[in-house]
Amino acid sequence: MAHKLEWIETELQNLKEAGLYNRIRTLGSPQGAWLIVDGKRVLNFCSNNYLGLANHPRLLEAARKAMEKYGLGPAAVRSIAGTMELHLQFEERMAKFKRVDSSIALQSGFTANLATIPALVGKEDGIFSDELNHASIIDGSRLSGAQIVRYAHCDPADLKRQLDQHRQEFPRALVITDGVFSMDGDIAPLDQIYEIVQNYDAVLMVDDAHGEGVLGRGGRGIVDHFHLHGKVDIEVGTLSKAFGVVGGVVAGNPLVVEWLRQRGRPFLFSSATTVPDTAACIAAIDLLEESTELVDRLWENTRYFKAEMKTLGFDTGVSVTPITPVMLGEAPLAQQFSRELFENGVFAMALGFPTVPRGKARIRVMISAAHAKADLDQGLEAFEKVGKALGVI
Ligand SMILES: *Cc1c(COP(=O)(O)O)cnc(C)c1O
Repeated sequence: MAHKLEWIETELQNLKEAGLYNRIRTLGSPQGAWLIVDGKRVLNFCSNNYLGLANHPRLLEAARKAMEKYGLGPAAVRSIAGTMELHLQFEERMAKFKRVDSSIALQSGFTANLATIPALVGKEDGIFSDELNHASIIDGSRLSGAQIVRYAHCDPADLKRQLDQHRQEFPRALVITDGVFSMDGDIAPLDQIYEIVQNYDAVLMVDDAHGEGVLGRGGRGIVDHFHLHGKVDIEVGTLSKAFGVVGGVVAGNPLVVEWLRQRGRPFLFSSATTVPDTAACIAAIDLLEESTELVDRLWENTRYFKAEMKTLGFDTGVSVTPITPVMLGEAPLAQQFSRELFENGVFAMALGFPTVPRGKARIRVMISAAHAKADLDQGLEAFEKVGKALGVI
């Protein structure tokens, strides 16, 4: 008789044969412009450390100091004994930073979506969702049991069509979009989405994971970018990308925040973020409020790198953010490109189906304020060399 878990062996073998098996590389250094990856020193074009905060001395110091006072773990969920002064400070500071009335801290961006969506809609209700929304929005939506109506990517006219057609089928409706889409680096037209949603008695929610610390004045996010303060009901954010730490946040309407304290399941049934994480996130807000220097440098680096890549002849897609896709077409070419970059000292991952559509495989370069101009030049040289060798440019 076959072993009861033998099917997993078969599936893993299938993944390997299809070139879809995740071979996970290991870091032997802190995050930064340069990394030790699998024992080799390489230029980092991969991580979401947009502002270089993941190993910033001010964040490290804040974490150390907080541990001396509060220890390490909260040892409870927030609603029992896990809410520490630090969590409340963080929530207050975050709300002020984003110019909203209220915010609530979760363990991650992923759990923030899992907490929020099922708390707001149930099986009678409807969710209008951009077809390219993040997996955590999809999972949160499924968990809610609500009917999911997908609209065409970043297409307000299609959103309007779907609302016209389906809004009256549901007592409550929630419209959800990513702020910045992580594979293409395009930005949701939130201003147009807001104008439409306003007319349909629907709650508007944006997941600003890649916009937090990147878009808007001093990194205040997509709502600030479009000057929509007070108009977007819910902003979900993450502290694990530009903020360089880990954690999630839901900011916006105080009623929603209060409801999540009562009904957000990951808030009620999973322990709070740790002391050093929370303290480091507060220090990150301090830094961003003090100066726009890091955000400015991120955008300067982005403009420089993209312009040089275009001059070299690469297709960088539709991105308008530091996410820089280098479009290559077929997955095997993207994988080979990534391997040869690595041999040339540059760590940049290839993305293929099903992460991106078939025939749209790419290398995704993540630009950071941590990169010096010399780093970017070195990366550009490697792209030129490999691009010519593989006949891409
Ligand atoms: C990365 C990402 C998340 C997950 O954030 P974590 O804090 O890493 O859990 C959620 N939503 C979007 C849109 C993301 O890009």
